[in-house]
Amino acid sequence: MQQTDSLEAKIILKEIVSELVSTVRKQDFLTYFKKLSVVDRTSDRIVFGVVSSFMRDNLSHKFYDEIKQATKKFVPSIESVDFVVDTAIDNTTNTQVVDCQTLYKEFTSKRTKKTEIPGHEQVDGIVSRVINDKYRLDNFIIGPSNQLAYAAADAVCRKPGSSYNPLFIYGDVGLGKTHLLQAIGNGIRARFRDKRVIYTTADRFLTDYITSVKARKVDQMREKYRSIDVLIIDDVQFLAGKKQTQEELYNIFNILYEGNKQIVLSGDRPPKELSELEPRLRNRFEWGIIVDIGAPDFETRLAILQEKARAREFIIPQQVAEFIAYNTGENVRELEGILNQLVAEYELHNTPPTIEHVAKKFKKLAITDDFSGPKKSRTKIAGYQELLDAVSAHFGIEVGSLVGEDRRKENMIPRQVAMYLLKNRLNYTYDRIGNIFSGRNHSSVLYSCKKLEQILKKDQNLFYEINVLRDKLGI
Ligand code: ADP
Ligand code: MG
Repeated sequence: MQQTDSLEAKIILKEIVSELVSTVRKQDFLTYFKKLSVVDRTSDRIVFGVVSSFMRDNLSHKFYDEIKQATKKFVPSIESVDFVVDTAIDNTTNTQVVDCQTLYKEFTSKRTKKTEIPGHEQVDGIVSRVINDKYRLDNFIIGPSNQLAYAAADAVCRKPGSSYNPLFIYGDVGLGKTHLLQAIGNGIRARFRDKRVIYTTADRFLTDYITSVKARKVDQMREKYRSIDVLIIDDVQFLAGKKQTQEELYNIFNILYEGNKQIVLSGDRPPKELSELEPRLRNRFEWGIIVDIGAPDFETRLAILQEKARAREFIIPQQVAEFIAYNTGENVRELEGILNQLVAEYELHNTPPTIEHVAKKFKKLAITDDFSGPKKSRTKIAGYQELLDAVSAHFGIEVGSLVGEDRRKENMIPRQVAMYLLKNRLNYTYDRIGNIFSGRNHSSVLYSCKKLEQILKKDQNLFYEINVLRDKLGI
């Protein structure tokens, strides 16, 4: 996980643990909950780090439901939680670790004195998520995919509340929305020291609202949100279906807007496609400017990787950087994940980043050893349907036979190829692939993919054909 998210991780962790304190039996809690970290997080999955395999096995078997529920409470989009042994958990500089035992004492102590959570910032008493100063406009790499979003963000920093209001940035996960939103917050603060800025996520806004309703302090929350100069709300799609919270935001929006206060929002879709938001709120979101962030092309990915490496004072040979940028997906987090691993391996084992080493890491040696420098940048393909069409056309069979249950040999290889590409190039899960292929189960898909890997080691022709298909699909 990127360090820049570590604060967020810690805040989430604290909240989750506080929830678990009340849902897990005391004796169990004290036995099984030691240190916890967040090792990775995507929009629907969190990977927790624990101290040992014993803890991992116990947490994932005995307390899976409790942990998932507690997590969902704070991050509603989470669909699954996982546990891994985190070797860095005892590292004292690790800021994304919480010690459950200490927290237990804190939460259960009779003192009700509210301690301020470190890293939170008070804006007239509003606990806002601190803006991470690693997210700046000057370290945001500009490419064709994000140029407009960058320009709008820059304009907002220069003249908040005047031209682009609200600014709505949308795009897929991992493409830099949070980076830009926080950079706006940082940029405005740097220029206009007296402006009060709140950056929050829709999740967080929701939790704040619910908490204030419970505590009968809605008026106070309203007052405070209405007294700020810049309101930045990330990932507004998470307000889906939360009518009351949307209503609250709608009112806040109107007041801020009328006072020429800047509002910045992000979402995974443009406002008009956020069908689970109230039409009038969506409509407000459309009042200003809407810009999208697309998937970065090869050059942009390469530049981002180099910038991130430079920031960590880590040297990646040009060829290796190109290899990584060429072979990773469009999600920038993936790119950072690889970089983090390379840095860790270098620091722990002195393993220098080489193409062979990275290729092994990708576990895709079978299809990436045809690498001969950057080729064309990959175009985004629509999805599995396009892949199924291409594979069946290539092998001259019907899509129905491709995904069907028939075990004739002429269908088997194309089927395995399609599954293999979905898994390795489009990162589909085995379960999802299984669903596409007549509801096959996880292990049957896994078996097919492994089987094909075996065949590919010997069958040069098939290897070649797969590369032709990959070229056609741009994957
Ligand atoms: P999103 O909020 O859209 O899911 P993030 O803003 O969290 O994505 O981006 C994921 C990571 O990728 C962050 O660490 C961010 O700094 C990095 N990133 C994305 N795009 C760029 C870019 N153009 N330049 C530099 N870093 C980027
Ligand atoms: Mg984000």
